[in-house]
Amino acid sequence: MVKKRISNREARSIAQVRMERLLDLALVEVREGCIERSRRYVTLARRISMRTNTPMLKDRPYCRECMAALLPGINCQVRLRSDRVVMRCLSCGAVRRAPYLKEKRGERDEQGKEEGTDRQGQRA
Ligand SMILES: [Zn+2]
Repeated sequence: MVKKRISNREARSIAQVRMERLLDLALVEVREGCIERSRRYVTLARRISMRTNTPMLKDRPYCRECMAALLPGINCQVRLRSDRVVMRCLSCGAVRRAPYLKEKRGERDEQGKEEGTDRQGQRA
């Protein structure tokens, strides 16, 4: 019997669904206090991501060092510094910094030109 070959696009859409499921389960495990199982789920999701060349989901953060799913308030500390978001994993202590300059600039523009943004809002 010949194994049916699926296209890369099909593989990616299946991968997306499976990664979502795995990362949701990883968050549930964090909430219930089983970090090890959470790490296992994130590792599996990452393996799917690498095999199918699909980026990891942006809206579900995980620790790059110990692979635990990060849930602010439970195993992750989020702080705002001058121009970046600092996320610290509380199970291994790894720190990840992400800039938020774009949002800051957007805020400044909104404050400066309130009329402009109103007009844009009406158009949309
Ligand atoms: Zn960690």
